[in-house]
Amino acid sequence: MNGVEMVRVVVDAEKCIGIGQCELLEPEIFRLDDETAISVVVGDGLLPCDRASLIADKCPSASISIGR
Ligand code: SF4
Repeated sequence: MNGVEMVRVVVDAEKCIGIGQCELLEPEIFRLDDETAISVVVGDGLLPCDRASLIADKCPSASISIGR
């Protein structure tokens, strides 16, 4: 066990304004949809808790929430 708590990030498509900050910070996890320009979570969406919190804080429309 490495002691790093992993959490799952979720994007609220209704609130996302397509700035792309999340994709810039974690391109493996977030991707802007080509047509809608709304961020979607790709893969399992798992990030270390600290990193997930930081990215959620940086979203200008507070669209990113953290699950378990
Ligand atoms: S940072 Fe927030 S508003 Fe910008 S694309 Fe990601 S989820 Fe959408």
